[in-house]
Amino acid sequence: MRIYPRAIGKEWQHCAWCRTSSRDLRSNFASFVPDEETGLKILDLMSSQGMPAWLDTSRADEGRYQVKIGACDDHFINLKLLLEILKQSQEMTQRILEYTKS
Ligand SMILES: [Zn+2]
Repeated sequence: MRIYPRAIGKEWQHCAWCRTSSRDLRSNFASFVPDEETGLKILDLMSSQGMPAWLDTSRADEGRYQVKIGACDDHFINLKLLLEILKQSQEMTQRILEYTKS
């Protein structure tokens, strides 16, 4: 599934690795995906790995869909690893997700 990650920012969201939530902003990164269907498939794949993420459709009228993945401070290193791999591969796979959990 095609995915085009951007840079790390801050937003409120659950950690994809330990699933904790927080009232504080979390490190995350957004990734453009080709369409809503691809975005939902990526969320399904992540969900099957027990990893929460969300699909930002606020700019759907411009044809822009972004998958957002966040991490707590303890899992920031996992987030950075995932970002680096996805920048190279521009492809989201189960193997990549598993690798970032090991
Ligand atoms: Zn965490």
